[in-house]
Amino acid sequence: MEFHKNTSSKRRTGWITSELYYWHDTQNWSGFLEPSTTVQPGLHFENPETKRRMQNLVEAVGLDQHLVPLRPEIVSTDIIQLVHSQDHIDKIKKVCDSGGGDAGSMTPIGPASFDIANLSVGGIIKALDELYSGNIDNAYVLSRPPGHHALPDLAMGFCIFANAAIGIRYAQKRYKVEKVVSIDWDVHHGNGTETIFFDDPNVLTISLHQNNLFPPNSGGTDTSSHHKSNLNIPLPPGSGSGAYRAAFEKLVLPAVDEFEPHLIIIPSGFDSCALDPLGMQMLSSADYRWMTRQLLKSADKHCEGRLIATHEGGYSATYVPYCGLAVIEELSGASECFEDPFQEMIASYGGQSISNEQMESITAASIEYFS
Ligand code: ZN
Repeated sequence: MEFHKNTSSKRRTGWITSELYYWHDTQNWSGFLEPSTTVQPGLHFENPETKRRMQNLVEAVGLDQHLVPLRPEIVSTDIIQLVHSQDHIDKIKKVCDSGGGDAGSMTPIGPASFDIANLSVGGIIKALDELYSGNIDNAYVLSRPPGHHALPDLAMGFCIFANAAIGIRYAQKRYKVEKVVSIDWDVHHGNGTETIFFDDPNVLTISLHQNNLFPPNSGGTDTSSHHKSNLNIPLPPGSGSGAYRAAFEKLVLPAVDEFEPHLIIIPSGFDSCALDPLGMQMLSSADYRWMTRQLLKSADKHCEGRLIATHEGGYSATYVPYCGLAVIEELSGASECFEDPFQEMIASYGGQSISNEQMESITAASIEYFS
């Protein structure tokens, strides 16, 4: 059953995860709402299952044997402080010490979440240390809790500490990396990453997301021209393979080429997939594979292949594992040995070709950024 038994990887891909990531407790919330007299308690969308099943699939098909397994470590407070205020750090600790609760805006946490959120930051820090030590070529960090909504002073949208943003600040400080591009393909707007680097011309934050999904009224094209350090690509609900590939070819890849990054970071959310309960986009694992392939080409062209993907959202326990597997296969080059059993059905869904409305959105985003 080991599909990857006879393959060999072309790149050394770091594979960073920890069982402790699955012990972050999002409590007995229902969907994303706190229980009340109108909301029956239940399972929070951001629960361990999607991530654990992704790890399980990577191991079940034998792909992990072609990866470089790495363990995340707890980081010092001054690394968290590269982005977050001491007040924010103290508040998270206090909520955990009191047994858990909402850490900010729609972000339930449990007693151990402070340490596990630190360890989630530790995932990308480990990836960067190994990358710049020359031990790996790229990495996938399957960490939890996610980070791209977290603001310097506020936990938001299931995110406590801004994993990717802290990693970028760390790369700037520790390894003197000059220019970094972040390409966020999570279905929600990467508002935290955008805010943190809004005035930093050396960090280009690109976000492809469903138009006005979360946070509300965030991620429009109106912020894209600011120092040319930010590019928002809001796509209409129902966007699929055609829209995402056009957005990459007409906008993402030219913007990356123009910026000439020294490091590529992907806040990697699989909630743009067709089976996600929170998003209404239609990507298949083949689309995630294709996007990864394009960004690897960009990384080869500009920064000797240096690329790190760090896990964000994705709430289909059924389908996230297949999207994640495709990305990691592509990163390592131990590619396409396993056939996604859902691929054919999702690729044939109506609306996968780009529509006029989707093309207009991409054109508008392009005019805002390049003119
Ligand atoms: Zn998301």
